[in-house]
Amino acid sequence: MAFAVTSSSNAVSGSSFSRSSASSDIKVPQIGSFRLADRHATVNLSHKRSAMKPVNAEPKRNDPMVPLAATIVAPVSPKVEVEDYEQLAKELDNASPLEIIDKALEKFGNDIAIAFSGAEDVALIEYAKLTGRPFRVFSLDTGRLNPETYRFFDEVEKHYGIRIEYMFPDAVEVQALVRSKGLFSFYEDGHQECCRVRKVRPLRRALKGLRAWITGQRKDQSPGTRSEVPVVQVDPVFEGMDGGIGSLVKWNPVSNVDGKDIWNFLRAMNVPVNSLHTQGYVSIGCEPCTRPVLPGQHEREGRWWWEDAKAKECGLHKGNLKQDSAAQLNGNGNGASHSNGTGTQSDIFNSKSLVTLSRTGIENLARLESRKEPWLVVLYAPWCPFCQAMEESYVELAEKLAGSGVKVAKFRADGEQKEYAQKELQLGSFPTILFFPKYSSKPIKYASEKRDVDSLMAFINALR
Ligand code: SF4
Repeated sequence: MAFAVTSSSNAVSGSSFSRSSASSDIKVPQIGSFRLADRHATVNLSHKRSAMKPVNAEPKRNDPMVPLAATIVAPVSPKVEVEDYEQLAKELDNASPLEIIDKALEKFGNDIAIAFSGAEDVALIEYAKLTGRPFRVFSLDTGRLNPETYRFFDEVEKHYGIRIEYMFPDAVEVQALVRSKGLFSFYEDGHQECCRVRKVRPLRRALKGLRAWITGQRKDQSPGTRSEVPVVQVDPVFEGMDGGIGSLVKWNPVSNVDGKDIWNFLRAMNVPVNSLHTQGYVSIGCEPCTRPVLPGQHEREGRWWWEDAKAKECGLHKGNLKQDSAAQLNGNGNGASHSNGTGTQSDIFNSKSLVTLSRTGIENLARLESRKEPWLVVLYAPWCPFCQAMEESYVELAEKLAGSGVKVAKFRADGEQKEYAQKELQLGSFPTILFFPKYSSKPIKYASEKRDVDSLMAFINALR
């Protein structure tokens, strides 16, 4: 069935939303984006430029840093369009994330915002920046996020010169929940109630101020539930500012992209990332409900692990759960019954030019005072996105060095090997790269974050 919705494409006009206003200098305060340093200089300007609807329907505030809902009178000359989003999804299915985001921003201007969770969906912000168009970003502050995530939010704001539009849960609702059931009731009776209060309702409020949103959902993310994520769709769950079914469009520009390619992109563009990733976290959410994943586990296994795998969607993307009724989709329970397609994480750094070291192998290597040739060894975990991102360059390096007198090897150092690797092999975070010189038992740790072939080669040549 083809869905049709109306949207006021280019409805917001004026200098603040012209493409050139952001394309040339993203440091210029953008839609909903105000830098502290610019506060005094731009107070008046910010009001002039506030031809915007914030992602919330909160009461007025006096803080000039915050866009005021009541001051928002966009010079709208609506040009109503009817779009067949099923058709558009087909047309864009092979388009790059950059093209898709560009299209989304072009189409919805100030009425669209990126939903940013504080994980690798920072790629969406990078893509939006690359389009040169103004863009808005919002996040749900549940009050239960990891400290690392809050720091990452701050870093992202500074890096992009933006202000994230945070959405908070209703204080009275949180109070009622916590006073009646305690701080960790989700371990007892499931995460739905807490998620509904801290995430789903604030999200619903945010979306009521928009006509479209951009998510970082990918098909490869959730066992069973995300296998059908079109790059664009009429939101099957939430409503936009006009209300009713079809009033909100959901863009999933990285739907078809592999997690590994997202990480390659982040690395290539030198995008800041949440430091939790270096601790083994793949999926990032609230602190009590998220944990690093174990070898062989799917990234979504790191969320609500005490519950049945069928309930792995938190309510924000319940439209992925095909069997949910509309009522269930709106947060009244979770009746989905999907099989758990838990994937197994395949090994990485697979090349004939690479030696795979066992625990005994690396112990022997570390024990030798004098070796026939120097060795370069990566301590890795196949689920680690940083390891995955350097796979290509490390394999290329091994192939280049084949027969050169330097051995290139890998040692899987997660799971039960982790303690040994931390104690004996200087493992801090994954990946750790060690050089075992010809005449010394002590390995030398590669300190740089640059893991391209040339940088690694320079390291080897300096020591061999
Ligand atoms: Fe509550 Fe956990 Fe859901 Fe966060 S993820 S809102 S802490 S149940």
